[in-house]
Amino acid sequence: MERLKNCVRGFADRVRWARIIETVCVFPCPGCREALPEQGWNGFCTECLSRLHRIDGPRCPGCGGPQDGILAYCSKCLRIGVRPWKDAYAVIELDPFGLELIHRYKYSGQVELARAFAALGAETIRRSGTVFDAIVPVPLHWTRYLGRGFNQAHLFCRLLGGELGIPVRGYLVRSRATRRQARLNREQRLNNLTDAFALRRGANPDGLRLLLIDDVLTTGATLTEACRPLAKAQVSIMVIGRR
Ligand SMILES: [Zn+2]
Ligand SMILES: [Zn+2]
Repeated sequence: MERLKNCVRGFADRVRWARIIETVCVFPCPGCREALPEQGWNGFCTECLSRLHRIDGPRCPGCGGPQDGILAYCSKCLRIGVRPWKDAYAVIELDPFGLELIHRYKYSGQVELARAFAALGAETIRRSGTVFDAIVPVPLHWTRYLGRGFNQAHLFCRLLGGELGIPVRGYLVRSRATRRQARLNREQRLNNLTDAFALRRGANPDGLRLLLIDDVLTTGATLTEACRPLAKAQVSIMVIGRR
């Protein structure tokens, strides 16, 4: 009982501090950097929320995009073939505004976007009613950290896990550095990534329901390879942006 009381007290303190910080400091919307978000700390303002292209309604389990026919998979995923994951969620579509936000997040170091993305991602997962045992980030090779300073998928994971109350587990490691994927076609991407991921020593994700997270889904080559060491788990994927 005492532990429960302490826990409640700790939570109340944290909420109080968050309120005080919000009253004293002003955190503008990370989308337009002007308006004040109504949902508090680092959320998007109403105007930016209305500009963001989010996926409502039936989703394609291959890419998390909207279904575009009578089949569960969208036409693009049908061309690509069977995916190794069970279901897919995307926070936003990469239309010009979505792409600009992702670029600011990944390459211009606008890390406060992570919280806004995580709040939307958590809402998507809650609405789906699906339960996960752990959230797993797709790891960057350590040489990539040098250029970028942080793993954007990992930061998003931590905040998403916090919102949903799901632990984040670093089950995967990069076993070798790979070329940048952006300029390669799908076949080259898959070859580039062969055996790029391995299970961290001592990790045992077998049988768990995992939400594997990457920042962007284009062809799905990175996520396909990252699924390989997780073959005995039940994997669904989430990306911040999809095209
Ligand atoms: Zn805004
Ligand atoms: Zn699809």
